[in-house]
Amino acid sequence: MELKEKIGFYKVCFDSMQAGILVFNDFGEIVIANTPISIYFEYSTYELQNLKVCTLFKDCSVFKNFQQNPEKKKFKSLVELTGVKKSGAKLIVEASFGKISYEGNNYFKLLLTDITRRKKKEIKIQSLNVQLEEEVKLRNIELESVVQKLRKSLSKEKELNFLKTKFIALASHEFKTPLAAILSSTELMAKYSDLDNVEKRNEHLKKIKSMISHLNHMLDDLLTLENIEAGEINLSLSNFKLSDLIKNISANTKPFLKKKQQLIFENEQDCEIYHDNKIITIILKNLIYNAIKYSNEKETIKVCVLTNKRNIYFTIEDHGIGIPISEQNLIFNRFFRAKNALYYPGTGIGLNIVKGYVQNLNGTISFESVENKGTIFKVQLPKMNNNHG
Ligand code: ADP
Repeated sequence: MELKEKIGFYKVCFDSMQAGILVFNDFGEIVIANTPISIYFEYSTYELQNLKVCTLFKDCSVFKNFQQNPEKKKFKSLVELTGVKKSGAKLIVEASFGKISYEGNNYFKLLLTDITRRKKKEIKIQSLNVQLEEEVKLRNIELESVVQKLRKSLSKEKELNFLKTKFIALASHEFKTPLAAILSSTELMAKYSDLDNVEKRNEHLKKIKSMISHLNHMLDDLLTLENIEAGEINLSLSNFKLSDLIKNISANTKPFLKKKQQLIFENEQDCEIYHDNKIITIILKNLIYNAIKYSNEKETIKVCVLTNKRNIYFTIEDHGIGIPISEQNLIFNRFFRAKNALYYPGTGIGLNIVKGYVQNLNGTISFESVENKGTIFKVQLPKMNNNHG
């Protein structure tokens, strides 16, 4: 191959390279640029030869730097540069720097690769990463709140189990007394049947009935407690007459009356109300049972029912053992029983249930009590709106 042909061949090789090759002199003037450079920067090879290297890049200082100190560590590896096309559009290139000497002159060469696309992708990936991190953060927050909810319900579940165990221990103890009383009454009745003593038999029958009601009451408490703990207080609203409610409660609580105890109901107006009959019954029954239980024979228990436009008011008054002043702040606590009540049967959950229900109905409950004088409980319940008439 002739020298002339060889030069032509070199040029073909030079132009067919994938990377852009650019050589400039001491004055920063472009001496040689291959075809990829003209493609990258949108100048013709002819135009390029009349340009200074600085024209092609946003920041020129890097070339001056290189010319002054080509051995600098920075120039031993790839340097990222922002190029400017003829149209003014930007491109990002990766450049490797080098120095050449030819016929006693210094030249500087740049090997360039267009990385604009890769860069765009990297930026996209970066912003996706940021987005992803944000989402992970959000998910973590959501997860944390779910974990907290789970923890809460787990501890609620644990508390419920503890309550059940405690209640069962208490109730099984409390169950024994009425069961023993029922047994002894039935044994005695068997005896009286021989003697035909109707009065005594009836007395025992009444005792048995009252004990069975007491057992029922305790079971009701257990079920109610479970519903309250599980947050399952679904109101069941209906129209009913206050007098019917009272009749029902009276019939249910009278068997518990001790000898010559009297249960008096005072309701000023007999009106129809729209409310949860079952819940009001549970509230009143609990308070009346207590009044009966903690009062002596011959005492009177007075129940008053009052209503106005907005509220229903109940008061339950007894002349029983009262609540010691030092323990009055504790009596709504679950399982709490005052010192003077320990001789009476009970589990200490009735008032807790009552308070739970009253609060659920947005009402209030309070009491006044003097030891050995008596107690009065006051309940206020807001009326419900019956939009359907
Ligand atoms: P229990 O009667 O089964 O013990 P409660 O929760 O109904 O449970 O009542 C809690 C405590 O409040 C009772 O143990 C008792 O000390 C006191 N108490 C409630 N009502 C009365 C009342 N009418 N008279 C005196 N003490 C009462």
